[in-house]
Parts: sequence; C-alpha cells; structure tokens
Amino acid sequence: DESEWAEFDEAAAEGDEAPPKPQPVLAVVGRPNVGKSTLVNRLLGRREAVVQDTPGVTRDRVAYDALWNGRRFTVVDTGGWEPDAKGLQSAVAAQAEMAMHTADAIVLVVDAKVGATATEEAVARVLRRSKRPVIVVANKVDDERGVADVHSLWSLGLGEPMPVSGLHGRGSGDLLDKVLEALPETPREVFGATGGPRRVALVGKPNVGKSSLLNKLTGEDRSVVHDVAGTTVDPVDSLVELDGQVWRFVDTAGLRKRVKTASGTEYYASLRTKAAIEAAEVAIVLVDGSEPISEQDLRVITMVVESGRALVLAYNKWDKVDEDRRHQLEKEIDRELVRVRWAERVNVSALTGRSVAKLAPQLRTALDSWDTRISTGRLNGWLNELVAAYPPPARGGRQPKIMFATQAQTRPPTIVLFTTGFLEAGYRRFLERKFRETFGFVGSPVRISVRVRE
Ligand code: GDP
Ligand code: GDP
Repeated sequence: DESEWAEFDEAAAEGDEAPPKPQPVLAVVGRPNVGKSTLVNRLLGRREAVVQDTPGVTRDRVAYDALWNGRRFTVVDTGGWEPDAKGLQSAVAAQAEMAMHTADAIVLVVDAKVGATATEEAVARVLRRSKRPVIVVANKVDDERGVADVHSLWSLGLGEPMPVSGLHGRGSGDLLDKVLEALPETPREVFGATGGPRRVALVGKPNVGKSSLLNKLTGEDRSVVHDVAGTTVDPVDSLVELDGQVWRFVDTAGLRKRVKTASGTEYYASLRTKAAIEAAEVAIVLVDGSEPISEQDLRVITMVVESGRALVLAYNKWDKVDEDRRHQLEKEIDRELVRVRWAERVNVSALTGRSVAKLAPQLRTALDSWDTRISTGRLNGWLNELVAAYPPPARGGRQPKIMFATQAQTRPPTIVLFTTGFLEAGYRRFLERKFRETFGFVGSPVRISVRVRE
C-alpha cells in the first residue's frame, strides 16, 4: 500500500481545495408567522419566497450562505417554534439564547401590524443582555400607511426599528446595509478560527442510517421538509445542538428527503458526498457495523482523507452486532482500515440512541487536532532526536539528510521536511507514526511533504 501513500503525499503537495473561509453569522429570530422565512428568502435574493402558511409548523434551524455588496455571511433562520410544554414564550426565548451563542449579529423580526407582544418583550430582555448587535425589523410594512405602526417598537429598548416588507422587498436593501454594518469583518473566535458553528458532514453509503442518526441527534422526527431543500446553489444545512455546542451539519437537505430519488445513481450520490465533505471541517463517516466493510465505505473514507478533513468513524446499527460479528469486525478493521488508525471509532445505534452522545466529544477532539500547530522549535527538537536514532535509509549510495521541518499549515496539519534527497515512502510512514506517538493528532489526517534541496 505504499503507492497509496505516495498518492496522498502528492495530493498534499498540490495543496488541494481549502476549507471554507470564515464567515460571520446573522441569526434571524422572532415569533412564528412574523415573516422570518419570507425575510430570509428576501435577504438571500430568492425570487420566490418559500413560506409555510400553517402557523406553528415545525421548521428546522437552517443556515444559508448570503452575499451582499461583495461580502459573504451566513444567515441562520431559527425557524417557527412549536410552543413546547413551557409555552411559546419560553421556546422563543430559548431560540434567542441560541442565536446569541451562534451569531455575530441578530435580527429580531416583529410583525408591525401586531406590534410587540409579551413574547417580544421577553425576547428583548434576553437580547438586551447580549453583547451582539441587534437589529429590530418591523416587518409587514408593505406601504407608507404601515409606517405609523413602527414607532411603538422603540419600546423594546433595542434601538431604531427598521420598517421592512419581506414580502415585497420594501426596505430590504437598507436592512442589508445595516446588517453589513453590524457584522464584524471576521467572525468572533468562540467557535474556532472558522467562525460560526463548526461544519460537520454526515456521510456514508446509502441505507447506513444517516437520516436516522440525524433525526436522533436533533431529537425530532422531521416529517416536514423545508421546500428550499434541493436547490443546488444553497445546500441547506442544519444547526444541531450537541453537548452544549451548536454544530452546522452541512447539506442535510438530501438526508431529509423521505422519498429517496430512484434516479440518484451512485455517481451523483458520490458527487454529493464529496461536496458535503469539502464544505465541512470534520466528517462523521457512518459504517454499517452489522455488515462487512464494503468498497463503498472505503471510498467515502478515502474521500475524507484526500480532502484533508478531520474524521470520526461511527459504526452504526450496533444493536444488531453480536459477539461473532464484533470479532469479525475487529479483523476487518485491522485489515482494511490501518490507513486511518488515527481516527476515533464510536459504536452507535441510531435506532436506540446508543452512544450517540459520544459523537460530540469525538468531533471536538478531531477538530482540535485539525487546528493544532506544533512550533518549529518543538518539531525540530523531536525530529533531530528521532533522526539521530533512526537515520533515513540510503538510496543509491547516498544518504539523504533531513535539514529541518516546519508545520506549514493546519487544517489539516501539514509538515514540510526539507531534505537533501528523496525519502522513501516507508520511511515517511515511519515518521508519521512516530510523529503521532509524540504529538497525537487523533482524528486528523497529517500530511508530510518533502522538499528536496539540491
Ligand atoms: P415565519 O413563521 O416567521 O417564518 O413567517 P413566514 O415567513 O412563514 O410568514 C408568515 C406569513 O406572513 C405568511 O403568510 C407570509 O406570506 C406573511 N408575510 C411575511 N412577510 C410579509 C410582509 O412583509 N407583508 C405581508 N403583508 N405579509 C407577510
Ligand atoms: P440513510 O440512507 O443512510 O439515510 O439511511 P436511513 O437512515 O434511511 O436508514 C436505512 C435503514 O436502516 C432504515 O430502515 C433504518 O430504520 C435502519 N437503521 C438506521 N439506523 C439503524 C440502527 O442503528 N439499527 C438498526 N437496527 N437499524 C437502523
């Protein structure tokens, strides 16, 4: 399998597609039916508003990428909230809390025709504590007559309300200008340097249990699928709160489709998988633990490694795995998955919920590794000792010397070795193994590329 490693090295040298750029996040909050979705569609420049006319229909928290005046940002539509046992007010307040954790700026949408209700007042109390900029939108101001309704919204104590008609577009340009003013150039650092929730791809061959797992993680059976799903321009992502942290699961629209398209040939499924991985920072590759590891599983894993994303392996359907199968699986893993020995494994069941709580800590570990940089001093201290004990094998009578190393990149960690000659793949693999023994990097691919100085 040395040739395989050589391929990875070449991919590293090419420096293929970079992870997505950091984008600031705008959250849109408000009671059901005030026009959040209509407004979000307007902000995204969609001609056709996608709106649910039934009040109280459960919608996902979804994230979209927006572009205005050359600046990119992410819009999070926190959706219509089903009043829970504690009532609508607490549900919307929780939504506002969530927005504060997720966003760099917040838009609070109020139906100007209705005015501020007790719910808006409760939300405003939450938002006033927030350190994020808040813009109050007085929505449904379709014409000049509506403007009179707007002034009363000053009482929310969140500054000047902006009259807008999400439906007709009135005032939406001004709103976007104000949004850009409110958003920082670069997102704040709480989520790591990418800004916003960390991006996760949930991938695996068909029927492995991706949508079941997503449903389990979001804790709801989502039979309602947002209509925006399926547009290729804006794959719809889901925000999922796991273990006290909000995560952005990318392109979950495809997973949500109840009726899976028969025309979705393997080729297209594979393109979609690749796109999801590339849009993400970390991938959960779901493998069916109850069946032998297949070609298709290995292909998906290879895609993750080749795109240089962090990786968590999850063996699903563990409820069906008995003693015999477990032994068999261990053997398969030893045989087929040596290449990704650095990836953590979680044995889950989307059906029973077994161990799904372990996914978030593993995602964090993998991303920490992915973000880690070893200082040049430490790296060379380690390397000098290692090379003194195990010098690289000579080739054609000449012994290559490793002059020094530096970690040129994170995401994924990429080590560049400056040498006086070619290093054999076997030796590079040895270096990687030793490197991981010292520095860990659990859950992240590590690339080692060699620059030969003549
Ligand atoms: P959400 O639940 O807050 O996302 O609200 P929706 O976007 O689903 O809108 C709820 C209802 O209000 C729909 O019937 C929309 O057509 C209507 N609506 C939304 N924006 C406006 C607006 O600017 N003017 C008017 N007249 N109606 C609007
Ligand atoms: P997807 O194509 O990857 O989204 O897979 P689905 O989530 O649609 O699941 C495919 C089938 O596997 C469905 O019949 C699920 O009920 C079943 N399934 C998913 N997860 C599990 C699990 O953990 N245990 C068992 N026994 N069945 C599961």
